[in-house]
Amino acid sequence: MLKGKVALVTGSTSGIGLAIARVLAKEGADVMLNGFGDAQTIEKTRAGIESEFGVRVAWSGADLAQPAAVTGLVEYAVRRLGGIDILCNNAGIQHTAPVERFPPDKWDAIIAVNLSAAFHATRVAVPHMRKKGWGRIVNTASVHGLVASVEKAAYVAAKHGLVGLTKVVALETAGSGITCNAFCPGWVLTDLIRAQIDARAAKSGGDFEAGARELLSEKQPSKQFVTVEQLAAYILFLCSPAADQVTGTALPLDGGWTAQ
Ligand code: NAD
Repeated sequence: MLKGKVALVTGSTSGIGLAIARVLAKEGADVMLNGFGDAQTIEKTRAGIESEFGVRVAWSGADLAQPAAVTGLVEYAVRRLGGIDILCNNAGIQHTAPVERFPPDKWDAIIAVNLSAAFHATRVAVPHMRKKGWGRIVNTASVHGLVASVEKAAYVAAKHGLVGLTKVVALETAGSGITCNAFCPGWVLTDLIRAQIDARAAKSGGDFEAGARELLSEKQPSKQFVTVEQLAAYILFLCSPAADQVTGTALPLDGGWTAQ
C-alpha cells in the first residue's frame, strides 16, 4: 500500500515509534528512523527492518529538543530517501512532580520534545507534501492530550497543545490531499511507562507486576495495556485511502480511560 512513499518517524528507536516504523516498512514505505540509544543496537534494528521488508531504512540521532536539528532531520530524510510523505511526530519524554516542585528545565525539555518538535517538523514537511498533493501527519498525543493527571503539568500541557496543533494543521491542509491526525493512547507497556511502574513499585515496596496492576486499575477500565501493534495498526489505517476524509481527529485508544 505504501510502496514509493517515504516516512519519517521521530522517536522510533524503541516503543511505539519502532512499531509504527515497522508497520509502515512492512507496507513498502522507505523509513527514516530517529531517536537515541546504543549505536550497535540501532544499527541492528535499522538493518533488520531493511532486510525483513526490502525497503530503504536510514537513521538519524537528531536531538528534537533543538529546533534546527528537527528541521535538519526533515531535510535529511528528503535528501537521503527522496521526499517526505508520512510524518509521525512520536518522540516524547516524561517527568513527574507536583507543579510547585516541577523543575523549569524539565518543563522546557518536555515542551520542546513533545510539542515544539512537532511544529518544527510539520512546518518544513508540509510544503513537500503539498507539492505531491498527498501527505499524512500523525501525532502521537496521549489520553493526557484530552484529560489530566496529577504531577504531569508539562506532559499534559504539551499533549493538549499537540492536539490543538493537529486541528490547526488539519484545517489549513483540508482538501489538499494531506491529513493531520493525533491518536491518544492510554497505558502502553514501553520504556517510558516501565520507569513509572518501577518508581511506584519502589515506593510501595511491591514488585513490578503489582505496580503494573495498580497503575492500570487506577485509570484504564480494561485493566489491560494497549499494545504497540494495536497502535501501529491504527496508524496504517490513517495512511490508507479509507482515511482520506479523516483529519483533525484525536482518537483515544485507551481501554476506556477517557470514557469515565
Ligand atoms: P519510549 O521511551 O520507548 O520511546 C521514546 C522515543 O523517543 C525513543 O526512541 C527515544 O530515543 C526518543 N527520544 C526521546 N527524546 C528524544 C529527543 N530529544 N530527540 C530525539 N528522540 C528522542 O516511549 P514510548 O512509550 O514509545 O513513547 C512514544 C510516544 O508515545 C511519546 O510521545 C509518549 O508521550 C507517547 N505515549 C506513550 C504512552 C505509554 O503508555 N507508553 C501513552 C501515551 C502516549
